[in-house]
Amino acid sequence: MTDAMTRALETKLSLFDTRTRKVASISASNGSHLRIYSCGPTVYRDAHVGNLRTFLLSDLIIKVLKYTGVDARLVQNITDVGHMSEDLHEDKLLAESSARKMDPFEIAREFESRFHHDLQLLGVNPANIYPRASESIEMMQSLISQLIEKGHAYVGTDSSVYFDARSFESYGEISGNRLDALKPGHRYEYTDDGAKRFHADWALWKAAGERTEMIWDSPWGAGFPGWHIECSAMSLHYLDGAVDLHLGGIDLRFPHHENERAQSNAAAGYEVVSNWVHGEHLLFEGRKMSKSAGNVVLVSDIVARGLDPLALRLTFLENRYRSQIDLTWDALAAADSTIKRWRKKLKDWGASDATPEAQIVLSQLVELVLDDLGSADAIVELRRIERDEHLAPSFRAFIFRELDQIFSLDLDRAEESARLTSEQEGLLAARAEARAAKDFAQSDLLRDQLRALGVEVKDSASGQSYEIIL
Ligand SMILES: [Zn+2]
Repeated sequence: MTDAMTRALETKLSLFDTRTRKVASISASNGSHLRIYSCGPTVYRDAHVGNLRTFLLSDLIIKVLKYTGVDARLVQNITDVGHMSEDLHEDKLLAESSARKMDPFEIAREFESRFHHDLQLLGVNPANIYPRASESIEMMQSLISQLIEKGHAYVGTDSSVYFDARSFESYGEISGNRLDALKPGHRYEYTDDGAKRFHADWALWKAAGERTEMIWDSPWGAGFPGWHIECSAMSLHYLDGAVDLHLGGIDLRFPHHENERAQSNAAAGYEVVSNWVHGEHLLFEGRKMSKSAGNVVLVSDIVARGLDPLALRLTFLENRYRSQIDLTWDALAAADSTIKRWRKKLKDWGASDATPEAQIVLSQLVELVLDDLGSADAIVELRRIERDEHLAPSFRAFIFRELDQIFSLDLDRAEESARLTSEQEGLLAARAEARAAKDFAQSDLLRDQLRALGVEVKDSASGQSYEIIL
């Protein structure tokens, strides 16, 4: 590692590290900027608001760090090959490709661009680089070769390459799932891998077998990479061998992050990731969001209801990243009206005045965010400041504008000239529901009613959107 002689740069940020189970101070080991890796989307469908919660985590971290003068470099992968579904053991992209009779890479690019569009609507700054798995095959193959050379991986009789789990002693530190507790047959990893030496070994490279699409040549024959190896290869490559902060949803703790840690550490010979930080689950109306439960909510659904997508951002900020949220349409509507009220008030308050008193209050609020991302506590304070009529308008304007550099609620946005009436909003929501229920006669009727009221509705695969035409 080139950083051995470099003095780390201590930041003021602290976060809960899943591996050590402690709130830890975060530092940039290269002395200049924080190196962050965040597990990105598998682009075979739209990211729902639960996935987006994790993707917003890196944005809040980077913005609060930047506010304190610390730069960050963010790498986020785009998984477009190798992510198998748990039930059918099929590549998620190829399954979607045969269902839609479309080229798998065409599907991947479509959802990749929608992912970037969603992030933009949520005020998220782009990562420094979004490497695609399908374009990182050589990088993964070279890491796999290294692991074989070092005795941490082997070629099975089926020509797939497996990681030898027992060769990595501290397996299980992140999730607590130690090897001796993992039972054979437990569905934690590809269960049809018959050529493994040990039940907890996992595939780094899978032999093509019957598969003819999305396969590449390799020293071990034609095949495709396993899902876990891409994050090791990309983080080691693009972050120069050390990750200060590794982010992802809590469901990735095991096996994905456990396997990634084993691969990266085995290849590098040291602890590659300093802090593993996980975002908690999101429930919607009391239930886990899933396609089968029919309660998957997308950013486009929020827009279709006439709500500002940043309302989603505010509801996330009002909860700590590591506590579960039960999101509801009512909560989103309330957040939407809060944002609109704040925009109006900020306009009324006028110019900011950075008095010494205001600076002190501001730094206390920033401290709350730096303390394990206590944005929720900072927002409670913001609401108190909003209501306190004893405070000068310019004082309140200063606090709100400064914190908005971290929260990105676009509070200085000019008032929208045209707003939907409650009747229009109601019709839009009813139409979204009719469409979801595939009641097209009803949805066409509602479209005509909306047009008569000056709202033109457009449909796309991601849902309905609208434009005010009168
Ligand atoms: Zn990952």
